Amino acid sequence: MASGLVGVVALASGRLSLLWFLPAFLGFCAILQACLKRWGTALQAARIGEEHLSEEINTLEGELGHLEEVSVGLLERLNRYQKLQQISNAFSASLSPDELIQWISGVTGEIIRGADLVLLYLVDPKNLVLELKSVWRRAGNLSIKTKTGDPFDLWVMRQGQPLLVEEPSADFRFPEGSAQRLGRPLGSLVAVPLLSEIRSLGVLRVESASPPPLGAEELRLVRIIGDLASLALENSRLFQRMEELAITDDLTGLFVRKHFQKRLEEEIARARNLKAPLSLLLIDIDRFKGYNDTFGHSAGDKLLKQLAQMLIRMLRVGEVAARFGGEEFVCLLPGVEAAEAAEQAEAIRRQVEDTPIELRRSLTRSSVSIGVAGFPQDGWAGEELLQAADQRLYRAKASGRNRVCSS
Ligand code: GH3
Ligand code: MG
Ligand code: MG
Repeated sequence: MASGLVGVVALASGRLSLLWFLPAFLGFCAILQACLKRWGTALQAARIGEEHLSEEINTLEGELGHLEEVSVGLLERLNRYQKLQQISNAFSASLSPDELIQWISGVTGEIIRGADLVLLYLVDPKNLVLELKSVWRRAGNLSIKTKTGDPFDLWVMRQGQPLLVEEPSADFRFPEGSAQRLGRPLGSLVAVPLLSEIRSLGVLRVESASPPPLGAEELRLVRIIGDLASLALENSRLFQRMEELAITDDLTGLFVRKHFQKRLEEEIARARNLKAPLSLLLIDIDRFKGYNDTFGHSAGDKLLKQLAQMLIRMLRVGEVAARFGGEEFVCLLPGVEAAEAAEQAEAIRRQVEDTPIELRRSLTRSSVSIGVAGFPQDGWAGEELLQAADQRLYRAKASGRNRVCSS
């Protein structure tokens, strides 16, 4: 390179001959060639590096896409599990059976992707048939012709097994035309039995009207919801039954005294607000001890039951009867004036007098005495009204029994 430069400088200055210049120029070219070769190699290496890099970027982009898909899937699952958790919490809260039934179909519809219709059937314990209890629709007004289950629901109930039908018209388990007869578009369905430990409670069914069909994942979720719902339904029924047991008398089925007193306070508060009348009847069986002694304790029980049934039949809607003590009953008549209440009491007295009680070999008779009291004239509080009724009952007893005493 130095000789090349010398040559160029010499030529420029005109002091050196061509003989000097040629070798210098050739030297310069050789150097230039070497440089170009080196640049070429470097360029090629850079190109290869660039290819590698873009390959790596492609791979990373692919992986990123996959990770995004996975994370969307995970988020969806997390969402569902959170919903399941919410369902489980809500189901363990003490909802009434009616609230619960609406809730179950609603959350099932929300949680199952692709669900267009959710049906919840419960088994009627008396005649063991399915009864449609609640419906959830994503949109529109999909018609439901049968309220007692179609071949799909009945299959689930009889088999006690979950069902997934991806192609309803080509499913050999069901009679031909089962899907068409529904009168609504049916793309696919899943249905699960609702089971308690001892009996079948009902069927929970989810339908999708169009593709993609519901599949194994949806069936798995509906099974989980179905299991939670079964537990909640059974708990709610047991809870309701316990509450009923706590407020009803074993022998007669009437309310117990404590519950009656609560109802009395509620009705008096209402009567005060509405400035409406209210009456009380205190009813006591005459000479019941003698009846027991003559015919036996179980005959006495039969008389108590018969009187309770008579009261239930004779009272009107909104009127309440309770067993107040051994052979003493009480009736609460909201909105009834004392005079009308005395007539009602007289009708009860006559009915008892006229109704024989069948025992094994004989027909026996009984009678009752009744004290009547009214709000507001006999007292402003429940306890005062009960006292007034009791005093009149005592008067009825003292004046010969089998009679009604009012003010
Ligand atoms: P009165 O006409 O004055 O009311 O007389 P009575 O005999 O009806 O009244 P008393 O209070 O002397 O007797 C009530 C009887 O009711 C006594 C008790 O053995 C009976 N008794 C209370 N509860 C029951 C029950 O659940 N079953 C039966 N069989 N008898 C009961
Ligand atoms: Mg008594
Ligand atoms: Mg008595």
